[in-house]
Amino acid sequence: MLEKQRGVTIWLTGLSGAGKTTICQFLETELRSQGYKIEVLDGDVVRQNLSKGLTFSKEDRDENIRRIGFVANLLTRNNVIVLVSVISPYREIRKEVKEKIGDFIEVYVNAPLEVCEHRDVKGLYKKARAGEIKHFTGIDDLYEIPLAPDVECQTNQETVTQSANKILNKLEDLGYINPLPLPQLNNNYSRI
Ligand code: ADP
Repeated sequence: MLEKQRGVTIWLTGLSGAGKTTICQFLETELRSQGYKIEVLDGDVVRQNLSKGLTFSKEDRDENIRRIGFVANLLTRNNVIVLVSVISPYREIRKEVKEKIGDFIEVYVNAPLEVCEHRDVKGLYKKARAGEIKHFTGIDDLYEIPLAPDVECQTNQETVTQSANKILNKLEDLGYINPLPLPQLNNNYSRI
Protein backbone atom coordinates (compact mmCIF):
# COMPACT_ATOMS: atom_id res chain seq x y z
CA MET A 1 0.00 0.00 0.00
CA LEU A 2 1.04 3.57 -0.63
CA GLU A 3 1.49 5.48 2.63
CA LYS A 4 -1.42 7.66 1.61
CA GLN A 5 -3.60 6.42 -1.18
CA ARG A 6 -4.19 8.88 -4.04
CA GLY A 7 -7.70 9.19 -5.42
CA VAL A 8 -8.46 8.65 -9.08
CA THR A 9 -11.53 8.06 -11.21
CA ILE A 10 -11.29 5.24 -13.71
CA TRP A 11 -14.02 5.92 -16.23
CA LEU A 12 -15.03 2.99 -18.43
CA THR A 13 -17.04 3.98 -21.47
CA GLY A 14 -18.35 1.73 -24.23
CA LEU A 15 -21.39 0.08 -25.75
CA SER A 16 -23.75 -2.05 -23.70
CA GLY A 17 -22.20 -5.50 -23.48
CA ALA A 18 -18.69 -4.25 -24.32
CA GLY A 19 -17.37 -5.46 -20.93
CA LYS A 20 -17.36 -2.45 -18.61
CA THR A 21 -19.04 -4.15 -15.64
CA THR A 22 -16.98 -7.32 -16.00
CA ILE A 23 -13.69 -5.42 -16.05
CA CYS A 24 -14.82 -3.26 -13.10
CA GLN A 25 -15.62 -6.34 -11.05
CA PHE A 26 -12.18 -7.75 -11.75
CA LEU A 27 -10.49 -4.48 -10.82
CA GLU A 28 -12.58 -4.08 -7.69
CA THR A 29 -11.62 -7.52 -6.43
CA GLU A 30 -7.95 -7.08 -7.32
CA LEU A 31 -7.57 -3.61 -5.82
CA ARG A 32 -9.56 -4.41 -2.66
CA SER A 33 -7.36 -7.43 -2.07
CA GLN A 34 -4.37 -5.09 -2.20
CA GLY A 35 -5.99 -2.92 0.48
CA TYR A 36 -7.11 0.07 -1.59
CA LYS A 37 -10.31 1.99 -0.82
CA ILE A 38 -12.64 1.51 -3.78
CA GLU A 39 -16.10 2.68 -4.77
CA VAL A 40 -18.00 1.54 -7.83
CA LEU A 41 -20.52 3.67 -9.71
CA ASP A 42 -22.29 1.36 -12.13
CA GLY A 43 -24.59 2.89 -14.73
CA ASP A 44 -27.45 0.46 -14.11
CA VAL A 45 -27.31 0.91 -10.34
CA VAL A 46 -27.05 4.70 -10.61
CA ARG A 47 -30.16 4.84 -12.78
CA GLN A 48 -32.10 3.01 -10.07
CA ASN A 49 -31.32 5.61 -7.42
CA LEU A 50 -29.17 8.71 -8.02
CA SER A 51 -30.61 9.20 -11.51
CA LYS A 52 -34.00 7.56 -11.05
CA GLY A 53 -36.54 9.00 -13.47
CA LEU A 54 -34.06 10.29 -16.01
CA THR A 55 -34.72 9.23 -19.60
CA PHE A 56 -32.28 8.37 -22.38
CA SER A 57 -32.64 11.69 -24.18
CA LYS A 58 -29.39 13.55 -24.85
CA GLU A 59 -30.24 16.05 -22.13
CA ASP A 60 -30.98 13.41 -19.51
CA ARG A 61 -27.99 11.29 -20.48
CA ASP A 62 -25.79 14.34 -19.95
CA GLU A 63 -27.48 15.02 -16.60
CA ASN A 64 -26.84 11.42 -15.59
CA ILE A 65 -23.14 11.78 -16.41
CA ARG A 66 -22.91 15.10 -14.54
CA ARG A 67 -24.37 13.49 -11.41
CA ILE A 68 -22.01 10.53 -11.63
CA GLY A 69 -19.13 12.93 -12.24
CA PHE A 70 -20.13 14.98 -9.19
CA VAL A 71 -20.06 11.94 -6.89
CA ALA A 72 -16.88 10.59 -8.49
CA ASN A 73 -15.22 13.94 -7.90
CA LEU A 74 -16.14 13.98 -4.19
CA LEU A 75 -14.77 10.50 -3.73
CA THR A 76 -11.62 11.11 -5.78
CA ARG A 77 -10.65 14.16 -3.78
CA ASN A 78 -11.04 12.04 -0.63
CA ASN A 79 -8.42 9.64 -1.96
CA VAL A 80 -10.75 6.88 -3.09
CA ILE A 81 -10.22 4.89 -6.29
CA VAL A 82 -13.53 5.25 -8.13
CA LEU A 83 -14.56 2.77 -10.79
CA VAL A 84 -17.22 4.19 -13.10
CA SER A 85 -18.94 1.86 -15.52
CA VAL A 86 -21.38 3.72 -17.73
CA ILE A 87 -22.01 3.83 -21.48
CA SER A 88 -21.49 7.63 -21.50
CA PRO A 89 -21.90 7.95 -25.26
CA TYR A 90 -21.20 11.65 -25.66
CA ARG A 91 -17.67 13.00 -25.98
CA GLU A 92 -18.29 16.54 -24.76
CA ILE A 93 -19.74 15.58 -21.38
CA ARG A 94 -16.99 12.99 -20.82
CA LYS A 95 -14.48 15.78 -21.43
CA GLU A 96 -16.30 18.08 -19.03
CA VAL A 97 -16.21 15.50 -16.24
CA LYS A 98 -12.57 14.64 -16.95
CA GLU A 99 -11.54 18.28 -16.67
CA LYS A 100 -13.47 18.75 -13.45
CA ILE A 101 -12.02 15.69 -11.72
CA GLY A 102 -8.45 15.97 -13.00
CA ASP A 103 -7.26 12.64 -11.59
CA PHE A 104 -9.08 10.75 -14.28
CA ILE A 105 -8.32 7.79 -16.52
CA GLU A 106 -10.56 7.34 -19.53
CA VAL A 107 -10.86 3.71 -20.58
CA TYR A 108 -12.47 2.88 -23.89
CA VAL A 109 -13.98 -0.58 -23.55
CA ASN A 110 -14.17 -1.41 -27.21
CA ALA A 111 -15.97 -4.29 -28.85
CA PRO A 112 -17.65 -4.17 -32.24
CA LEU A 113 -21.40 -3.67 -32.18
CA GLU A 114 -21.93 -7.13 -33.74
CA VAL A 115 -20.00 -8.72 -30.88
CA CYS A 116 -21.94 -6.81 -28.20
CA GLU A 117 -25.16 -7.69 -29.93
CA HIS A 118 -24.20 -11.34 -30.17
CA ARG A 119 -23.31 -11.38 -26.45
CA ASP A 120 -26.57 -9.58 -25.64
CA VAL A 121 -25.83 -10.02 -21.93
CA LYS A 122 -29.09 -8.43 -20.79
CA GLY A 123 -31.27 -9.20 -23.82
CA LEU A 124 -31.54 -5.49 -24.58
CA TYR A 125 -30.27 -5.58 -28.18
CA LYS A 126 -33.03 -8.02 -29.08
CA LYS A 127 -35.59 -5.66 -27.59
CA ALA A 128 -34.03 -2.64 -29.31
CA ARG A 129 -34.07 -4.43 -32.69
CA ALA A 130 -37.70 -5.32 -32.11
CA GLY A 131 -38.45 -1.65 -31.43
CA GLU A 132 -39.41 -2.36 -27.81
CA ILE A 133 -36.65 -0.04 -26.55
CA LYS A 134 -36.04 3.31 -28.20
CA HIS A 135 -32.85 5.40 -28.13
CA PHE A 136 -30.64 2.37 -27.59
CA THR A 137 -26.96 3.24 -27.98
CA GLY A 138 -25.47 1.63 -31.08
CA ILE A 139 -28.87 0.83 -32.60
CA ASP A 140 -30.84 4.05 -32.85
CA ASP A 141 -28.72 6.31 -30.70
CA LEU A 142 -25.22 7.66 -31.14
CA TYR A 143 -21.99 6.44 -29.52
CA GLU A 144 -19.08 8.84 -29.96
CA ILE A 145 -15.88 6.84 -29.66
CA PRO A 146 -13.13 8.32 -27.48
CA LEU A 147 -10.49 9.91 -29.72
CA ALA A 148 -7.61 9.71 -27.25
CA PRO A 149 -8.48 7.34 -24.40
CA ASP A 150 -5.83 6.71 -21.76
CA VAL A 151 -6.43 2.96 -22.14
CA GLU A 152 -8.25 0.96 -24.78
CA CYS A 153 -9.45 -2.56 -24.04
CA GLN A 154 -10.41 -4.60 -27.09
CA THR A 155 -12.59 -7.11 -25.37
CA ASN A 156 -13.25 -9.23 -28.44
CA GLN A 157 -9.51 -9.94 -28.66
CA GLU A 158 -8.45 -10.00 -25.01
CA THR A 159 -9.29 -11.98 -21.91
CA VAL A 160 -10.83 -10.09 -19.01
CA THR A 161 -7.51 -10.46 -17.16
CA GLN A 162 -5.59 -8.91 -20.06
CA SER A 163 -8.05 -6.01 -20.33
CA ALA A 164 -7.96 -5.35 -16.59
CA ASN A 165 -4.17 -5.56 -16.50
CA LYS A 166 -3.89 -2.79 -19.09
CA ILE A 167 -5.72 -0.55 -16.61
CA LEU A 168 -3.69 -1.73 -13.62
CA ASN A 169 -0.49 -1.02 -15.56
CA LYS A 170 -1.69 2.49 -16.36
CA LEU A 171 -2.53 3.10 -12.68
CA GLU A 172 0.93 1.89 -11.78
CA ASP A 173 2.64 4.04 -14.45
CA LEU A 174 0.83 7.14 -13.19
CA GLY A 175 1.69 6.37 -9.56
CA TYR A 176 -1.85 5.73 -8.29
CA ILE A 177 -1.00 2.22 -7.13
CA ASN A 178 2.20 0.56 -6.06
CA PRO A 179 3.97 -1.78 -8.46
CA LEU A 180 3.18 -5.36 -7.61
CA PRO A 181 6.07 -7.66 -6.70
CA LEU A 182 7.34 -9.79 -9.55
CA PRO A 183 5.60 -13.15 -9.81
CA GLN A 184 7.28 -15.91 -7.89
CA LEU A 185 7.32 -19.59 -8.64
CA ASN A 186 4.42 -21.65 -7.31
CA ASN A 187 2.01 -18.87 -6.51
CA ASN A 188 -1.32 -18.08 -8.10
CA TYR A 189 -0.34 -14.70 -9.36
CA SER A 190 -3.06 -13.57 -11.72
CA ARG A 191 -1.35 -10.76 -13.59
CA ILE A 192 0.35 -11.43 -16.88
P1 ADP B 1 -21.21 -3.84 -20.07
O1 ADP B 1 -21.05 -3.60 -18.60
O2 ADP B 1 -20.23 -3.08 -20.91
O3 ADP B 1 -22.63 -3.67 -20.55
P2 ADP B 1 -20.81 -6.61 -19.37
O4 ADP B 1 -19.56 -6.57 -18.57
O5 ADP B 1 -22.12 -6.68 -18.62
O6 ADP B 1 -20.83 -5.37 -20.38
O7 ADP B 1 -20.75 -7.84 -20.39
C1 ADP B 1 -19.61 -8.12 -21.17
C2 ADP B 1 -19.57 -9.60 -21.59
O8 ADP B 1 -18.41 -9.79 -22.40
C3 ADP B 1 -19.47 -10.56 -20.41
O9 ADP B 1 -20.26 -11.68 -20.70
C4 ADP B 1 -17.97 -10.92 -20.40
O10 ADP B 1 -17.74 -12.20 -19.86
C5 ADP B 1 -17.62 -10.88 -21.88
N1 ADP B 1 -16.17 -10.60 -22.16
C6 ADP B 1 -15.38 -11.32 -22.99
N2 ADP B 1 -14.12 -10.83 -23.01
C7 ADP B 1 -14.11 -9.78 -22.18
C8 ADP B 1 -13.08 -8.85 -21.78
N3 ADP B 1 -11.83 -8.90 -22.26
N4 ADP B 1 -13.42 -7.88 -20.91
C9 ADP B 1 -14.68 -7.79 -20.43
N5 ADP B 1 -15.70 -8.63 -20.77
C10 ADP B 1 -15.41 -9.63 -21.63
